[in-house]
Order: sequence, then structure tokens, then C-alpha cells
Amino acid sequence: MKVMKFGGTSVGKPERIRQVATLITKDNEPKIVVLSALSGTTNALVSIGELVAEGRKENAKLEIEKLEKHYQNFIEELIQKSEFLEKAKAIVAEHFEFLKIVLRISFSKALNNEILAQGELLSTKLFCVFLQENNIEYQLLPALEFMNIDENDEPEIINIEKKLKQLLQQNSEQKIFITQGYICKNAKQEVDNLKRGGSDYSASLIAAAINASVCEIWTDIDGMHNNDPRVVEKTFPIEQLSFDEAAELAYFGAKILHPASIWPAQNYNVPVKLLNTMHPEEKGTTISDKTNIVGAKAIAAKDNITAIRIKSSRMLLAYGFLRKIFEVFEKYKTSIDMITTSEVAVSITIDNTESLNSILKELEPFGTIEVDENQTIVSVVGNEISQTDETIKKLFNSIHEIPVRMVSYGGSPHNISLLVAAENKIALLKQLNKGLFGLA
Ligand code: ASP
Ligand code: MG
Repeated sequence: MKVMKFGGTSVGKPERIRQVATLITKDNEPKIVVLSALSGTTNALVSIGELVAEGRKENAKLEIEKLEKHYQNFIEELIQKSEFLEKAKAIVAEHFEFLKIVLRISFSKALNNEILAQGELLSTKLFCVFLQENNIEYQLLPALEFMNIDENDEPEIINIEKKLKQLLQQNSEQKIFITQGYICKNAKQEVDNLKRGGSDYSASLIAAAINASVCEIWTDIDGMHNNDPRVVEKTFPIEQLSFDEAAELAYFGAKILHPASIWPAQNYNVPVKLLNTMHPEEKGTTISDKTNIVGAKAIAAKDNITAIRIKSSRMLLAYGFLRKIFEVFEKYKTSIDMITTSEVAVSITIDNTESLNSILKELEPFGTIEVDENQTIVSVVGNEISQTDETIKKLFNSIHEIPVRMVSYGGSPHNISLLVAAENKIALLKQLNKGLFGLA
């Protein structure tokens, strides 16, 4: 059995939905099809939630009506026969009725999560109507019946496995199962989600739970590229990545895959394939436990980074200093990305600045604090990259006239990270593309 996950752009237009139906009926292997919300929907729902929270109900109502119109037009184009169109209309009406009721009740986080869930509920239900119209047999597996997170928002993999297996057993004659990405139930049994972009994570968790032959992630690009194709001209898709390399790339900015989606597949050793819905014949990228050639494989960039430097002569020969600093970040649930130390200073980067002010206040007694906002981490990733002096030589020789604020080397054998001011990001990506891959 395999998992096929289709992202927002893969279901964002009626003709793409037709393509998805073709792709899932191409072979006879039983499959669980995980769908995102139609592209743009979750963004719209986030904004509706914010407007409701701020009490701007009129604006929220306008946004809801705009989105509803979009769905009404969408189904008119997607569904041909009136009998099925009526069904689709009823689904759209039901979900938008819910959104309008939201305007009349008091706002809470739980309610906001219900709002956010509407996108995936709609996309899967409408897709099912499309399958019915086209005589394609399927079974809907509601994610809210098996996808659970605990009180720390961590997926309960053992439970997910148990429930999913039960559901599959009850429908053992079926070959195509449809489910929602992103949405889940939390420890309080309320509707919740796996955070933005979380459908990849759903797919990987499902693939792990059923021990799938492969977890296919269908997007609108032909795999993970060696550099950011949005800002660097000559890039190419990478055919093979190890789980470790892919995790570093996803975490350090490669937008194609949700960073958390690697570990379930890696732990259960399910290969992940990144494929292009528009060009299904392309090879894409395969992520597996195979470690491949040594050396630089790809470059990724993570924006909106804040660097904090703590300088203190008290750090000299002291012990326990770093622990105290880390405790401050732990207290505010802020994870640290990069860290470099000297005998009298430590530099740390974070991307979540929600508690920055409180963190800085608590760090003050430790020494002089300097903060640099608007930084970017550029990571060069590749198997054993930090063991090969050839790559390191090339890497540092590539860089011209760009001040590098921090270098993180040796933390992982697969990653060398550089911190630069955001305005130097594109220049650095291009220089590295030339220096490491010979592509100018
Ligand atoms: N629809 C959700 C989002 O836009 C989840 C996903 O697409 O992965 O974040
Ligand atoms: Mg995504």
C-alpha cells in the first residue's frame, strides 16, 4: 500500500483535480490519498480567523463570501452532471453555513482551529463527489477519526497506527482511500492541526503507520532543487537524498517539504518521493536511507532569522554558563537554530521572535547583548560534507565581498551553515551555486 499526498496547487484548479484522479487510478496498488486544501484557502481561513478574533465581523463576512463564491465557481467547472453538482453545492453550502455561524459565537482558539479545518474538509468531500461522478470507487477515511496529537502537540503514532489499521480492515476490499492532510484531534479531543504546511506531515505519519511502500508527495515542482529556483537561475532537481540530508534541507528553508515530515518516514524506513503533478513522468527526488555520494548536494536558505550575541568576561573559563542561557530559551519555548561560541561570547539564532523581549530581558544579567534582526541562514547540505576538505575549500572560495556573521560547522556531518544579512542572501546563493556546482 502506498501514500499519495497532493498539495494545494495540485488540487487548486478543476483541471488539476482531474489530473489527480488520473494519477491515483494509474496502477492497482492500494493507496491512501492525502489532500491539502485548495491553494489559497488556508490563507483565507487564517485571515477570517484573525478578523473574527479582532471583532471585525463585517470584514470577516466579506472574506467568507468571497471564498464561498470561489468554491461555487470551482464546482461548476469541476462537476458536469447536475445530480453530482447538487451534491457538491450542498457540501459548499454546509461548510460556509458553519463559517457564517462562527460570526455569531464567541471566539476561542478551539473555534479558530475549526475554521482552519474547513479547507481540507471541503477539498476531500468535493474530490469524493468528483470520483463518484466518474465512477471511481473510493472510501473516505476521516482524519479526525485517526490522526491524534498529545498535550505537547506531538502525534501519537502508536494510536494512529492502531486506529488506521482498524479503519482499513473494515474496508479491506477497497483500493483507494481518501483522507485530509493537516487536520487532527488534540488531547482534549478538539479539532486541531499539524501547523501550516502540515499535510506533508500527515502523509508521512500515515505512511509510517501503515508501513507504506512509498510516501509520494505531489507538488508543482519536479523535486527538491540544488538551490532556490525562485531566485537562482540555473538549478536542477536532485534525484537522491538521504533522510538526513532531506531533513536538513527542509528545516533550513527548502519550502517543498514540511520539516517534521521526515522523521516518521525515516523511523519506519518508508522512502519519500517528491513528484510533480504537472509532469508526472519526471523522476523527481527520492529520499531514502541510502547514503549516497559525499559532497555538497544542495543549498537552502531560511529567512527571518534573529541573531543574539551575549558577551561576557564571566564566561571565561566558567562552566554552566551556556546552560543558564539555554534555560532562558527553553522557558520561552523558543528553539535555537545556530550557535557559535568563543571564550567570551556566544551567538545564537532564533526564528520565532514571539518572546524576544522577555528573552532579552532575562539575558541582560549575563552580559552585553547585541541583536541583529533580518538575517538569513544559508545552509549547504550534503552527505559527510564537513569531512571533505575539497568541498570546504570550494565553499569558502566561492564567497566574495559578503560579510558572514556566523558559521556553523561540524554540528552535523551533513550541514555547513552561514548567517548573513538578508540583503546578501541572493548574492550568496548565486556565488555558492557557481562555486559548488559550477552554475552561473
Ligand atoms: N492547507 C494547509 C496549509 O496551507 C496544510 C497544507 O497544505 O499542507 O498550511
Ligand atoms: Mg506544502
